[in-house]
Amino acid sequence: MCKLHADKKFERFEDVTPELLKKEGVKLLLCDLDNTLRLHSEKEPADELADWIDDCRKAGVQIIIISNNGRKKMMQKFCEPIGVPCVWWAKKPLSVKLTAAMEEYNMKPDETVMLGDKWSTDVLAAKFAKIRAYKVEHRRDIV
Ligand SMILES: [Mg+2]
Repeated sequence: MCKLHADKKFERFEDVTPELLKKEGVKLLLCDLDNTLRLHSEKEPADELADWIDDCRKAGVQIIIISNNGRKKMMQKFCEPIGVPCVWWAKKPLSVKLTAAMEEYNMKPDETVMLGDKWSTDVLAAKFAKIRAYKVEHRRDIV
């Protein structure tokens, strides 16, 4: 497989199960927000997202949302109820915020995964940070 490809592909974020993360030795999961954990139009975290985050946490996986979205207040409002730290305006594919998160939580590259829907930002940022990339299908609003 090409070195710049996603290491694993999934349909949706729920398919990245706590069991799989445990098996893969993942302790820090860096997540994209828009069209990965939520549709762009979703203002509040969906129940299935809150449940998935809880299950990951119980399995010992720390989740941090790292988004290129620059709307700080919206991000904080979305992330606060689910108790997940968030980084806005991350400028992916630059890897600086991914590396900073690993340093802050004292995690090694082989304990960390970036999960996102976009190759040109999420997957590349992971590759620049020398961590694994998990890619989900881009979620679209149904009009
Ligand atoms: Mg996205």
